[in-house]
Amino acid sequence: MAALLDGRKVASIIKDCLKKETALFKEKGLGVPTLVSLCVGEDCGSTLYAKAQAQAALEMGIDYRLIGFEKGISKDSLIAEIKKINNDPSVHGVIIQTPLPLGLKLRDVISFCSPLKDAEGMHPENLGRLVLENDFVVPCTAQACIELLKSYKVKLYGRDVVIVGHSEIIGKPLSLLALKNLATSTVCHIATSQAKKLRDHVKRAEVLIVAVGKPHLIKGAWIKKGAVVVDVGINRLKGKIVGDVEFKTAEKRASLITPVPGGVGPLTVVLLMKNTLELFKRAKGLS
Ligand code: NAP
Repeated sequence: MAALLDGRKVASIIKDCLKKETALFKEKGLGVPTLVSLCVGEDCGSTLYAKAQAQAALEMGIDYRLIGFEKGISKDSLIAEIKKINNDPSVHGVIIQTPLPLGLKLRDVISFCSPLKDAEGMHPENLGRLVLENDFVVPCTAQACIELLKSYKVKLYGRDVVIVGHSEIIGKPLSLLALKNLATSTVCHIATSQAKKLRDHVKRAEVLIVAVGKPHLIKGAWIKKGAVVVDVGINRLKGKIVGDVEFKTAEKRASLITPVPGGVGPLTVVLLMKNTLELFKRAKGLS
């Protein structure tokens, strides 16, 4: 039976370190790291993700400001707001909540955010830095997967890492992080499934990371004996939150597996705060 990759435990260790850092900044009179969250077309304060961000920021001594915009805001108006924030020295990090309403795409607006305020690591310059292995803010969920594996001393070097899902925000940056750690990585996506090759790729994975958003897409019987399984998926099924991997059967074959919830999610939000601190330190000339 697999042991659990406990994201809450790892998140709480990182949280404590960040808390100490922000307290030290205050003590030295360097100010308070500030994260602005831009949310379009929702009752922002009520979304689960914004609530978790606000709570995490509070616990870590980070000032969190949520700014909501009407669903119908034009791309130009949103860009104008982003530019205002770029020029506000009291703000160190910005996150644009996704999904955005139809007609607005993160990739079309994020490039107007200063790369030095891009708390999500999604600005083209920051993604480019990842390619060059010269990164300082990395997309939070991708980073969370790697941090979780590192915390449990899972080696990636030379191992067959299979990533399912190639989104810009998770799968693609994750594949670069796997490469940075010298894993032999394979990225699967919709065409892999359509070509009926997904099972074969999953079966040979020593480390499997799934970020798709389809409940139980990955069957437990496909998991290689002793594999490490990271399930990023968050899906609602019959009133419960489940991942993309069939947990009950997978845990019988894997050596380590994330629970859903309680795996990658708690780390993602803490790493958003870590990115904010990194941007704050850059702004203050401390790193
Ligand atoms: P996304 O943008 O919708 O991307 C999903 C990816 O899965 C796409 O690359 C898609 O490929 C691929 N895919 C779809 N159906 C597939 C299939 N049958 N076989 C193989 N690949 C398939 O979603 P996302 O933003 O990356 O999020 C993925 C999941 O992670 C969601 O459940 C989301 O809620 C969850 N999530 C979790 C956290 C966390 O902190 N735990 C954070 C963010 C997101 P194509 O594009 O080619 O169709």
